[in-house]
Amino acid sequence: MTTKDMKEKIQQIFKEKFGEPGTLYASAGRINLIGEHTDYNGGFVFPGAIDKVMMAEIRPNGLDKVRAYSVDLEDYAEFGLNEEDAPTQSWARYIFGVCREILKRGGQVKPFDTVFAGNVPLGAGLSSSAALESCFAFALNDLFNGNSIDKFELAKIGQSTEHNYCGVNCGIMDQFASVFGKKGHLMRLDCRSLEHEYYPFDPEGYKLVLVDSRVKHELADSPYNRRRESCERVAKRLGVETLRDATMEALNAAKSDISAEDYFRAKFVLEEKDRVLAVCDALVAGDYETVGQKMYETHRGLSKDYEVSCEELDFLNDVAKDLGVTGSRIMGGGFGGCTINLVKDELHDKFVEEVKARFNEKYGHEPNIYDVVISDGARRYEE
Ligand code: ADP
Ligand code: MG
Repeated sequence: MTTKDMKEKIQQIFKEKFGEPGTLYASAGRINLIGEHTDYNGGFVFPGAIDKVMMAEIRPNGLDKVRAYSVDLEDYAEFGLNEEDAPTQSWARYIFGVCREILKRGGQVKPFDTVFAGNVPLGAGLSSSAALESCFAFALNDLFNGNSIDKFELAKIGQSTEHNYCGVNCGIMDQFASVFGKKGHLMRLDCRSLEHEYYPFDPEGYKLVLVDSRVKHELADSPYNRRRESCERVAKRLGVETLRDATMEALNAAKSDISAEDYFRAKFVLEEKDRVLAVCDALVAGDYETVGQKMYETHRGLSKDYEVSCEELDFLNDVAKDLGVTGSRIMGGGFGGCTINLVKDELHDKFVEEVKARFNEKYGHEPNIYDVVISDGARRYEE
């Protein structure tokens, strides 16, 4: 559904259910250009908000409960604002959680009516849940708190919602990107200091294309936890708090004291930190060929050294390389999900057609394709 159609549908349903119109808000899904498995090592990530959004119409209702309708799930929920009022539907717990986290921080929330919908694909690695949280966090800050809660706190409200009401122990990147996103810009977030900096991202002549393999291999957290443990072991051995503070020289000097596996895990993390910094320079110079090259290097590292790829993702990467795509890599934790691809305009249609056909022939289903444009994050929706 286009964002414009979504807006009209929300407004129509809001009118039918609740009468007088409310205010429209939107927030975005996100991509991460580079910087993978770096967050828990105190390193950098490099996300941007995209032109796929969660949108909500909201109006205070003067009642004693929130009344919420999900257009996409065709489901309705009502809930009060006390801790014991938590709704049962998982989608409603995101909204309830945001209300609770604002109240816990001493902010204001009054009962409201809302109708919401989104075109961020669910569970595809674009963080539809962060878009949902940051849409409501931004809106409730605007409606009830005179925008007195700062933007970083809004991101943390979303993150705490996942932790405390949705059972997802996530980092801060998704909510950060969704709240801070700015059209034509990516954001380098330092996961150690939480400092962030905008970088221009205006790849004229290229498109960003996500290819969702629709496969998920390791459902358990254990491979993820094992990676973390390797990183922590090496950091400890090198006498630093996180690998962010380690150097390749120190790692190589300690090579004989650590397992080969731990060595390659740490090597990836250190190289990935340098790649993010190289991509920053390349973006400032408008050099998208170098950006693409770094994306391939990240894929190789994730696949061979960090070992979080899988056959299907390596296949997608090989197809991209074979067709002359500028950059391609796994996006997200790995073991399935998406690749993110930087594709020249003139190659776009051929790439999409070929990658669908070749993947389908080998794995029996087509991947989902999403073209994305770097766009604004949380905002009042006034378009
Ligand atoms: P993602 O990787 O896309 O964030 P999650 O599993 O974290 O996937 O979050 C998906 C959940 O967020 C859904 O199960 C649902 O509860 C909620 N959600 C996302 N998009 C929508 C939507 N358009 N309408 C209702 N709920 C949604
Ligand atoms: Mg999520």
